[in-house]
Amino acid sequence: AKQAGRNALRFFDPRMQQAVQERLRLEDEIRRGLTAGEFVIHFQPQIERHRGLVGAEVLVRWQHPQRGLLTPFHFIGPAERAGLIEALDFVVLTQACEQLATWAKQPSRAALTLAVNLSASLLYQADFVDRVLALLKRTGANPRLLKLEITESLLLDDMEEAVVRMRTLKQHGIRFSIDDFGTGYSSMAYLQRLPLDQLKIDQSFVRQLVEDASSQTIIRATCALASGLKLEVIAEGVETEEQRTLLIANGCDMFQGYLFSRPVPLEAFEALELEPVT
Ligand code: C2E
Ligand code: CA
Ligand code: CA
Ligand code: CA
Repeated sequence: AKQAGRNALRFFDPRMQQAVQERLRLEDEIRRGLTAGEFVIHFQPQIERHRGLVGAEVLVRWQHPQRGLLTPFHFIGPAERAGLIEALDFVVLTQACEQLATWAKQPSRAALTLAVNLSASLLYQADFVDRVLALLKRTGANPRLLKLEITESLLLDDMEEAVVRMRTLKQHGIRFSIDDFGTGYSSMAYLQRLPLDQLKIDQSFVRQLVEDASSQTIIRATCALASGLKLEVIAEGVETEEQRTLLIANGCDMFQGYLFSRPVPLEAFEALELEPVT
């Protein structure tokens, strides 16, 4: 009884009420930021061993008027809880398509691909396919240069509808990558059911690559699996030369990570000169 009493007291703790108020304020702020166009995209290069720079992953940032540039850590969770993540993702997707259309007119950049992170909840929206197709049409972006990254952990039950939507988008040329590969569960079943084009090896495996032989084994097996299924494979979170060398030795020829560049604004991305590795 004493225990329950203490918990009850804690429930009415003014600090807790303050936390709730802060959360509501942040949600209002996100709503305001969306309307004010404060969410911008940064680009992190993706490098293919023999070709050099092939594209970028698009990562959202919040250019907050008072708090400065915020990373997703500060707002993705709250946006999800507030039901604003779909709107946010669509803002990001729109900016990515507009960028692809701009690059299409620049010979040196016309082949660059962009990978956009997609909340699984978007794939559960009935009009998602129509909205994406309308966006492609309006911007003139080449769907073949657009890759959508989804995480297996978010594609839970009742995924038939999502799979149908993915297939339709794929028929229009859009490609799909499975993000953070290896960190979810039932990966093999997903590989069979989802119309994928790329596996993205999670950075946790890359981080342990040098010290831990089992990470090497996992990466080698993932690359063999990808190759057998005719899927592209990319490693994220590549920070050292040593990691890159071991990735190549284990069958992975595409990389993304601080070794090449942090996510950067457009101007900095366009100034990068990233050549083939070997
Ligand atoms: P993610 O999709 O797994 O993206 C990779 C994260 O790792 C990015 O963090 C990136 O900056 C960071 N990273 C890249 N290279 C390295 C490296 O070499 N070392 C280390 N330690 N980290 C590296 P960021 O930009 O803070 O994004 C965090 C997460 O937020 C993303 O993880 C993604 O899940 C989510 N996110 C980002 N943009 C969007 C978006 O537009 N929509 C949605 N729904 N989620 C997004
Ligand atoms: Ca990602
Ligand atoms: Ca990832
Ligand atoms: Ca991640």
